[in-house]
Amino acid sequence: MRAFTLTGARTWSVQQLPDPNPGPDDVLIQVHRVGLCGTDVELFTGEMAYFAQGHTRHPLQIGHEWSGQVVEIGANVDRSWLGQRVSGDTMIGCGQCHRCLSNRWHVCDNRQEIGVRSGWPGAMAELHLMPARALHALPDAVDYAAGAMAEPGGNAVRCVDATGLGAGARLGVIGTGTIGLLVAMLAQARGIEVHLVAQDNAHQEFPRALGFQFVHTWTSIPSQPFAAIVDASTDASVPSRGIEHVEPGGRIVYIGLAEVPSPIDTRRLVFADLTAVSILGAGYGLPHAISAFAAGAVDPRPLIAATVGLDEVGDVLGGWKPPQAGLGPKIQVDPRQ
Ligand SMILES: [Zn+2]
Ligand SMILES: [Zn+2]
Repeated sequence: MRAFTLTGARTWSVQQLPDPNPGPDDVLIQVHRVGLCGTDVELFTGEMAYFAQGHTRHPLQIGHEWSGQVVEIGANVDRSWLGQRVSGDTMIGCGQCHRCLSNRWHVCDNRQEIGVRSGWPGAMAELHLMPARALHALPDAVDYAAGAMAEPGGNAVRCVDATGLGAGARLGVIGTGTIGLLVAMLAQARGIEVHLVAQDNAHQEFPRALGFQFVHTWTSIPSQPFAAIVDASTDASVPSRGIEHVEPGGRIVYIGLAEVPSPIDTRRLVFADLTAVSILGAGYGLPHAISAFAAGAVDPRPLIAATVGLDEVGDVLGGWKPPQAGLGPKIQVDPRQ
């Protein structure tokens, strides 16, 4: 199979590798789409914190937002998976510790993060190995492009849940990347009044084109505080600054990561009686994202600016955009190209 490998910081190769063989509990997937995200860029540049913490190293085969079709199954795997269109969880817990046994496998100390941490190869290849227990079937209504958005979609579902908001409430979403826009779409589908906050005027254009009515920058943000805020930005000042825009008693949800520490004065949380929540990974949200896509409540595909082949992945990670790319934040890869 052909596979894309990060061989070091800002170096890569597309190699011919032997086809993987599924173990007894694994399946082999022909990959149709893989999304590239900020985590992949950090793995490319070598800035990802897991390098310093010893959780990952080069060479590394990336790809944790993907979709494909099961083409081979291990001896213990239910035959109904064969031929199934699927996506899958990035976080693979050990299955035995107290966290795994209490539905917190995404923070298992011994977890694999496929294509990110602990060495399980990612999906940036023609074929991808997965433990069957981490698969999620894609209904007919969810095509491969949307299916590869299920993983970021699952993160976004958990963010919206963490706001605790229902229909009619006002939510501020800071950041107009894939996660921010998916949070906004999912929240709007629940009847929540969504206000997006873009980093500058130029970044207001795409959310407006998607049909969002309330798109601001920091200079035009409404003075009336929001019932909750989701920080999906990569700006180190936002975790602290966002607090000023949440209604006392409300919630602030953190999912964005900056390249440097983002200090918070907890007195500002306490005096406003705020709840701060953090989200790592799609977890239980992944099948809920697939359901929202299947029901037509949210269509993630307008976020995809372009679909490229394996040979173009290195250039995209280095900042190159295909000439035909749209305004959306997501670039996908079709490894069969
Ligand atoms: Zn990602
Ligand atoms: Zn565990």
